[in-house]
Amino acid sequence: MRRGKIVILARNVDKYYSNFHALKGISFELKKGEILGFLGPNGAGKTTTMRILTTFLPLTSGEITINGYDLIKKPMEIRKLIGYLPETPPLYPEFRVTEYLDFVARIKGISRNVDKTVDRIIDRCGLGEKKHSLIAHLSKGYRQRVGLAQALIHNPGLLILDEPTSGLDPQQILEIRDFIRELGCEHSIILSTHILPEASQLCHRVLIIDHGRIIASGSQQELNALARGGERVKIRINEPLAAMNSIRSDSFSASIEDGVLVLDGEFGDEGRAGIVSTLVGAGFRIYSVESEQLNLEQVFITLLRNAKNV
Ligand code: ATP
Repeated sequence: MRRGKIVILARNVDKYYSNFHALKGISFELKKGEILGFLGPNGAGKTTTMRILTTFLPLTSGEITINGYDLIKKPMEIRKLIGYLPETPPLYPEFRVTEYLDFVARIKGISRNVDKTVDRIIDRCGLGEKKHSLIAHLSKGYRQRVGLAQALIHNPGLLILDEPTSGLDPQQILEIRDFIRELGCEHSIILSTHILPEASQLCHRVLIIDHGRIIASGSQQELNALARGGERVKIRINEPLAAMNSIRSDSFSASIEDGVLVLDGEFGDEGRAGIVSTLVGAGFRIYSVESEQLNLEQVFITLLRNAKNV
């Protein structure tokens, strides 16, 4: 699918639950063909944002357009454009898979070729073997496939998936991730997760949300760069505290972990050599120097720490 056209434009979105300020001026875009990740800890505001986008929850202030439609003025048009997999999909356990999907198709206004539409979606979601089973008897992985089928049945251009792999076993997680990747070839997708490797594997771009704010955004590479170059240097040294105080700088952050001086920044060979010679010149004894690239998990923690210090 060609990427580029803007599908979602969200500007300064605020949400209050009575007095509680759950979203604080969220702004972002989603382009056609993109898989965008909402990454954040529990309570960050991911579900709230998704429920607003899907018109299930009103925003308090701000502006959202989807495919050019204003969310507040054209909710019915917007619902047709979106397939939504909530955290807990609205499944009816006493229904068989085909009955349930037939029911959903009719609710979504599909009136022609319903059987064919249901067959096609059953095929596409790998539900063939289970199509006559009661939903109550399905494993969590198959239930999630039924959840995806109900989101996809009207062939929406945009999919919004709230924690799509939550509660699945490792094999099911891999299967659903592969399926989402496949869906990304034909649909624009927003998915939420608190699993960092999932975001970095599936998403073209990630927004990191914490306490109702977007604290960082970008591709995995950009996030690494955002976390000050994404390099961590560990120096085993005779007096770590004194050493830390002697090299304080605005261009990197310093801390002591398990008696080791830890520097997060963008150093490179020359930068590391400069720090080592400064420390040696100041009379410290260095026992070892290690350098590692931060992974997304460490970047996330660093960003959260920086956001709390702002
Ligand atoms: P999780 O991963 O746990 O689902 P989340 O990032 O999706 O977290 P939200 O469910 O959007 O977070 O919640 C954001 C904040 O808003 C939380 O502090 C939550 O307690 C609060 N909240 C959510 N729904 C309501 C509600 N109906 N009334 C009051 N507060 C709410």
